[in-house]
Amino acid sequence: MPRTHYQVLVIGGGNAGLSVAAHLLRRKPSLVLGIIEPSDKHYYQPAWTLVGGGAYDINKTVQPEAKYMPKGADWIKDYAEEILPDQNTVVTRSGDRYTYDYLVVCPGIQLDWHKIKGADRWLGTNGITSVYTFKTAPYTHQCITSFTGKGKALFTAPNTPIKCGGAPQKIMYLASDNFRRRGILRPDMVHFYSGGSIIFSVQKYAETLLKVCNRYQIGLHFLHNCVEVDGDNKVAYFEAKQGDTVERVAVEFEMIHLTPPQSAPDFIKRSPLAVPNDPLGWMEVDKHTLQHPRYPNVFGIGDVTNTPNAKTGAAIRKQNPVLVENLLYCIEHKTTTIPQPKTYNGYGSCPLITGYGKLMLAEFDYNNQPQETFPFDQGKERFSMWLLKKEVLPRLYWHAILHGRMQG
Ligand SMILES: Cc1cc2nc3c(=O)[nH]c(=O)nc-3n(C[C@H](O)[C@H](O)[C@H](O)COP(=O)(O)OP(=O)(O)OC[C@H]3O[C@@H](n4cnc5c(N)ncnc54)[C@H](O)[C@@H]3O)c2cc1C
Repeated sequence: MPRTHYQVLVIGGGNAGLSVAAHLLRRKPSLVLGIIEPSDKHYYQPAWTLVGGGAYDINKTVQPEAKYMPKGADWIKDYAEEILPDQNTVVTRSGDRYTYDYLVVCPGIQLDWHKIKGADRWLGTNGITSVYTFKTAPYTHQCITSFTGKGKALFTAPNTPIKCGGAPQKIMYLASDNFRRRGILRPDMVHFYSGGSIIFSVQKYAETLLKVCNRYQIGLHFLHNCVEVDGDNKVAYFEAKQGDTVERVAVEFEMIHLTPPQSAPDFIKRSPLAVPNDPLGWMEVDKHTLQHPRYPNVFGIGDVTNTPNAKTGAAIRKQNPVLVENLLYCIEHKTTTIPQPKTYNGYGSCPLITGYGKLMLAEFDYNNQPQETFPFDQGKERFSMWLLKKEVLPRLYWHAILHGRMQG
């Protein structure tokens, strides 16, 4: 008889799910743990920006999921469809029901392409691209190298939280550097249209980024949210906010890099675990302990939660030991009350690529205060940090992080 009850049930076997499960089983090999994960493949998404810039092989960003399933975990190859926390039950798409003592929720983030009219139809053709999908990351490089400079190159960021908030800019800087090296870069060519109001939330790093924009003569347009793309006529439409008014603005392009609006997966939005009345439906957790405030035998980690940190794999690395410690306390003491919980300070990191061979490693906490690792000024662009991103971090990911090592 296949097992239907788990001491710990994990939803999602991505960066967070695999690394937490592996860490838990390392600490307590006797745990009865199951992971609900539908995908055969596991992706190293942070390298997709490099792929878009032509500096990384897309095939090196994907591995079989089976290779990284922790020993001792049951792989439930299905979608979680409904969470019934009052019954400690998860129902899958195929209708199976699993019960749990403790639940760890980490199905990542949802790309809401439907919020940009025409994106579903045009993405991957007519100069319309994105590094946010495995399929179109390589096409981004094609768009950059075939760009003639006769028209504009547009780069968008939405008005919702996104995974890797720096990615829309990283690909723009790589493209600009490519145009500069080919001698076609000129003013009024590269434009950043962002639904946000500032270039970066941490002042120290924002200052460097504004200099980088200046170097590439990038036009900055804040509070402009992309809502439609027309591949036939190569026009993008934005809702531009000014005070209380919203104006529709049309901009012609030769190429456009789209960053999709994002939200929690729909099955989380409609579950009792979501923040009440939040249209983006993030899963509610205490931002320090990662425990659900209303269902204390439920924990959340990674992109899906409402914690106001930068949604990155780097954040997960710091969240992981906090969740594991707090959850193991609960399991060992058969409780959901943790007298002295381990806490997460909102650490997130963004390796901001600013050109080929150039990277500024931003690291910061909930208060947007830098939390830097290295004993030098990380507010500067450096070749050593480019090597860290391109050569070191992918190896750490596949060989240590996913195995529950290198956490914290
Ligand atoms: C272009 C790009 C650049 C990035 N750059 C960086 C970077 O430089 N540094 C950095 O630290 N981070 C970066 N990130 C962010 C990083 O990849 C994510 O923050 C990280 O993968 C989040 O981990 P997660 O486990 O929450 O989600 P994911 O790793 O996305 O995993 C979610 C898992 O849940 C599964 N799932 C989905 N729905 C269900 C369901 N219904 N039931 C069960 N399972 C489900 C999925 O199949 C998937 O395996 C980047 C991301 C992108 C896209």
